[in-house]
Amino acid sequence: MAFKPANNIQDLQYFGEFGGVNPSISDSSTYTFLSAKTMFDTFEGNADGCYLYSRHTSPSNLYLGEALAAMEGTETANVAGSGMGAITPTLLQLCGAGDHIVSSRTIYGGTYAFLKNFTPRLNIETSFVDITKLDVVEAAINKNTKVLYCESVSNPLLEVADIRGLAALAKKHNLKLVVDNTFSPLSISPVQLGADVVIHSLTKFINGSSDTMGGVVCGTAEFVNSLKSVIDGASMLLGASMDSLRSSSILKNMRTLHIRMKQHSKNATFLANKFEADGLKTVYPGLASHPSHEIFKSMMNEEYGFGGMLTIDVGSLDKANALMELMQEKNLGYLAVSLGFYKTLFSAPGTSTSSEIPEDEQAEMGLTDGLIRFSIGLDDDIERTYQMMKACMMELDILELELV
Ligand SMILES: *Cc1c(COP(=O)(O)O)cnc(C)c1O
Repeated sequence: MAFKPANNIQDLQYFGEFGGVNPSISDSSTYTFLSAKTMFDTFEGNADGCYLYSRHTSPSNLYLGEALAAMEGTETANVAGSGMGAITPTLLQLCGAGDHIVSSRTIYGGTYAFLKNFTPRLNIETSFVDITKLDVVEAAINKNTKVLYCESVSNPLLEVADIRGLAALAKKHNLKLVVDNTFSPLSISPVQLGADVVIHSLTKFINGSSDTMGGVVCGTAEFVNSLKSVIDGASMLLGASMDSLRSSSILKNMRTLHIRMKQHSKNATFLANKFEADGLKTVYPGLASHPSHEIFKSMMNEEYGFGGMLTIDVGSLDKANALMELMQEKNLGYLAVSLGFYKTLFSAPGTSTSSEIPEDEQAEMGLTDGLIRFSIGLDDDIERTYQMMKACMMELDILELELV
């Protein structure tokens, strides 16, 4: 039977402290114990249902984690104060000095910088590979490798990972496959395809209103509990915990995620088809011209589409900057990083979100100067948006009259 992530979210039932239809917010950093013995047991991890201190967890964070685990079909989940606050403890929990990671080379700039510049200080080395080539991935695995790391749809190049193929490699070599699914919530369910751990930046589509940061790690109870251990859990000890007020607001936004993802995908599909037909170099996993179109199709939960992210290449950074400034002036969206907002957001990744990646490596992976990354918004009239964007491109000679 097809996996139905939105049903799993919908089927959770809540009764707040006073019968409210939303769970009550636990507005406390610390919790009382009626007996001193229970406090000791809780520290030892032997008192289920007791709360200790909100860096460990809180009722509000558990509710949000439960919804995210339901969405990904994992036993449980642990929320964090940001996406990086989910990624870094996960990798540090799975790897120690002497260990090795095989990672996609096209990943979020912050994750890249962490693996390239930070973890070598701890003697954790990373090989960056073209994740779409399973033979190259396997060749990079050595006796110290503990983790295969990728994004289901990569930032910013929108490469698609063959999660089933990577999961088979992980199994064969006894590694953990960790997938950052930030670009494709609901559309792709990595654990259903064999991944061990799924991470999201909640800051993006899942929260969807660009008003908060957040992150989550979804996985087995064994792994998630290890992250939360007061003795040696990386999430507990590194301290990137989420605040209860924020987790309660993200939980409420999650209830419209399926509607939003369908609209993001519908609008992005419309624009990608138009841009490509106009002769622009367009990358969108929903286009038949995308090198991993078939793989995406083979993995997706169809009704949510190919997501809201697309890129076009307008030839040079100057043109990219001029176009973004003009589109912002015409109120077509914001020149801003991040994604998943109701308005379209655009940025030139080479000089912003991926600037952590050295220029020669950017060139090698196909990250060109003229690339613009779009997070397509929830526009009700996408035809009008397209006509206005086209007018901007013609004004700047990015599209020539005879082409359109
Ligand atoms: C934004 C992002 C992150 C980091 O998340 P924060 O919430 O900004 O810490 C990680 N991975 C991807 C794919 C992202 O887009």
